[in-house]
Amino acid sequence: MADGVNRRDWFRVMGAAGLAAGLDALGKSAAAGQESGFQSSIIARHEVQANRANAMLVDGHVVQPRRELPILHQTDVLVVGGGPAGICAAIGARRAGVDVTIVERYGHFGGLWSGGLVLLVLGHIVKGGKQVCQGIGEEMLRRLDKMDGAIINRQPGKNPTVDAEAVKYLMIEMIEEARVKVFLHCWGVDAIVDGPTVRGAVFESKSGRQAILAQVVVDATGDGDLFAAAGAEYERRTHNVGLVSRVGHLDRVDRRRAQGRPKPRYLGSPTPIPGVHWANMRGPEVDGLDVEVLTRLEMSHRKFLWRNMQKIRKTPGYENVYLLETAPQLGVRITRVLNGLARVTLADLKAGRRFPDVIGVGGSTNGQHGEWQIPYGALVPLKVDNLLAAGRCISAEMRMADLVRLIPNCFVTGHAAGVAAAVSVLDGCRPRDVEVSKVQRVLKEQGAYLG
Ligand SMILES: Cc1cc2nc3c(=O)[nH]c(=O)nc-3n(C[C@H](O)[C@H](O)[C@H](O)COP(=O)(O)OP(=O)(O)OC[C@H]3O[C@@H](n4cnc5c(N)ncnc54)[C@H](O)[C@@H]3O)c2cc1C
Repeated sequence: MADGVNRRDWFRVMGAAGLAAGLDALGKSAAAGQESGFQSSIIARHEVQANRANAMLVDGHVVQPRRELPILHQTDVLVVGGGPAGICAAIGARRAGVDVTIVERYGHFGGLWSGGLVLLVLGHIVKGGKQVCQGIGEEMLRRLDKMDGAIINRQPGKNPTVDAEAVKYLMIEMIEEARVKVFLHCWGVDAIVDGPTVRGAVFESKSGRQAILAQVVVDATGDGDLFAAAGAEYERRTHNVGLVSRVGHLDRVDRRRAQGRPKPRYLGSPTPIPGVHWANMRGPEVDGLDVEVLTRLEMSHRKFLWRNMQKIRKTPGYENVYLLETAPQLGVRITRVLNGLARVTLADLKAGRRFPDVIGVGGSTNGQHGEWQIPYGALVPLKVDNLLAAGRCISAEMRMADLVRLIPNCFVTGHAAGVAAAVSVLDGCRPRDVEVSKVQRVLKEQGAYLG
């Protein structure tokens, strides 16, 4: 039974919903108040929001006044962003023995992997088929396999494909097992700074603007929202922005009628759910931080996917196929990339360069490259302290972006950032001063592969 809900409550809640649904189905409106079966009460009858500090219009300029923010929470390590990198960072730091809090702007974990419906996990292997993504990322894949939430196929040319709901479920389970404190529906909007040192972050939510104080912050927002707010230097890039979708009833295609005709495009590839495919989309190259661009693409991509499906349904044999779902979130690939103490480069990949401060090894889409080591410096800002980057926004040159951002490589850098943040807290030093050999030892103890 669900946490905090006993069997009697469960039947009562479900019964009430059933009653309301029944009335709706009969076309009768549910009676007002308690007779509807729903429950509601008044918290305050004449509330006016306290401690407001409204923006003001002064001489045609909008001015935000100074105000004190409530402190929502204090923690050792604060991870902002609950995608593949953030989840691995939070679990890695917690398993290393510190208090961890994770904050996510949406109502679920998984980032682009679940909310973006990017279901294909590419890049866990290198030339020869050796698997380099180990540790927490590999643990997730194994658990997804066990719960029938993934098609796990690791041979060269084949890649694991997951079910987004299984990912969301598993991430909650693992975060709860690790006893990480969670705040969902919280958008990180500012860094709390003391000179060059980050002391936490400010969040906006339905509860208002609040602060969380932390000893180390891991920026796993994908877009570097926190390092940008803290004043760290970064490179700002454009990239293709698409919208992934899922297509249903592909198991109901009438092959006999479809025979001899060209196969419709954009039907995607299989997922763990029979008859359901996921369809990737490249999209135009744009600035993924421009809200007007994001708005335009959300609308035009959805229109395109709907209209395209109507065309597909007119193809003989494909009449039953339908647009099951457009991803709830746009597919923004790369925006801000940290200018870090070190930088992942193609030349180093080609040379097979080994780093004394290696914190992970990256793989490639079909194992077309050899092992490429990721130095710790790629997670550390040039000047800002007490903050580390993880995932697709770590320091990497443009030619490496399409490898760095692959999901397994984000698992790897997230895991490393979490462990490094924990070591920094435990040793009472700045992340840039941590003994990297200690980070490497803890990562290996947690199953990571460092080459
Ligand atoms: C269309 C598309 C197709 C792709 N195809 C593949 C593929 O086939 N295989 C593959 O391996 N990879 C693929 N990728 C890349 C991969 O999905 C991403 O690079 C990867 O998910 C990045 O992980 P991340 O944790 O760094 O960031 P994200 O997955 O972006 O997660 C960031 C998290 O932070 C949250 N967040 C963001 N800002 C804030 C904020 N200010 N406050 C609080 N929370 C915040 C987000 O909601 C999200 O949960 C694709 C990407 C796209 C867009």
